[in-house]
Amino acid sequence: MPDDQSKTEEGALRFPFPEVPPFGEVVEVAEGILWTRIPLPYLLDHVNIFLIRDHDGWAVVDTGIQTEEAIATWEGLFAGPLKDIRISRVIVTHFHPDHIGLAGWLCARFDAPLLTSLSSYMSSRVISIAPATRASQQYFDFYISHGMSEEVAGLVAIQGNDYLRRVSDLPLTYLRLVLLDTLDIGGRSFRVLTGEGHAPEQIMLYCEEEKLLFAADQVIERISPNVSVFAGEPNGDPLGHFLRTLRQLRAEVPDDVLVLPGHRRPFYGLHQRCAELEAHHEERCDLIREACAKGPKSVAELVPVLFHRKLDPHQMSFAFTETLAHVNRLVRRGEIATVQRDGRLVNVVAG
Ligand SMILES: [Zn+2]
Repeated sequence: MPDDQSKTEEGALRFPFPEVPPFGEVVEVAEGILWTRIPLPYLLDHVNIFLIRDHDGWAVVDTGIQTEEAIATWEGLFAGPLKDIRISRVIVTHFHPDHIGLAGWLCARFDAPLLTSLSSYMSSRVISIAPATRASQQYFDFYISHGMSEEVAGLVAIQGNDYLRRVSDLPLTYLRLVLLDTLDIGGRSFRVLTGEGHAPEQIMLYCEEEKLLFAADQVIERISPNVSVFAGEPNGDPLGHFLRTLRQLRAEVPDDVLVLPGHRRPFYGLHQRCAELEAHHEERCDLIREACAKGPKSVAELVPVLFHRKLDPHQMSFAFTETLAHVNRLVRRGEIATVQRDGRLVNVVAG
């Protein structure tokens, strides 16, 4: 889930569809490719859904979160602009509830197969089989040691239960999509690309011939996708992986593709947007390094360096784990070190 507005300029991005479709309506963004939006109960109030004409129906890319409102929006589409269509395949870009939430529901309704990455499928299945695994004392202590409040740590710990509520049961079988697979959808050829950092093995689909990139949450206008370190991988470097994926996209996908992202509007300007996101994170790493140069700082003390607005506990959990991602990036680079001081973890300039 992206949560954070990037301040970077975006003058070079172009938006061929400046108006977003209202909920319940669809817009054709290319021949045989439809764009619609499903509501989300968050500040970011929608997720994009794309339908690609297939040989025997329509393949859907992403599904929305499991809420009554989202289901009602789908029902409205099936009674209106998508009347009598058949969903041939359900393609899920990543395991976050706003993308995978109604995959099981759609698969069951249309007897359609689920296509996604191993990491997306397994991440979702593991949480549904054992939602309490995130709530261990060890994980709780990890967040506390970095200065997180007990209230926020408690919230992060019970995220597994919230996830379950928001995601319908996945089918027991799926088709695995792997980096560089070729996927034929209705005669169009898509290359499967994967991104890291926002979610493990996030699926993107690239149609070279028609210059289309289904980019999921890797590149979005205005929003910097959330990149977080969680207790299960305390020394992880998701920001390093996210930046690596941006470099790979710039190297392997030409700039003149139409980017069809997981949120907000389709746009032209892939390379520009990748560069903006890189600059945005670089700037944040600079701020953390400068703050640590003035004295040891816990992650809790670094959160306000990056996030200036008042945060409720839910927003704080994302801000905190995102700040930790920047800290871990700088630790990997050897620029700061995380050390024990008086029973708590603080970050100091290395060397
Ligand atoms: Zn998302």
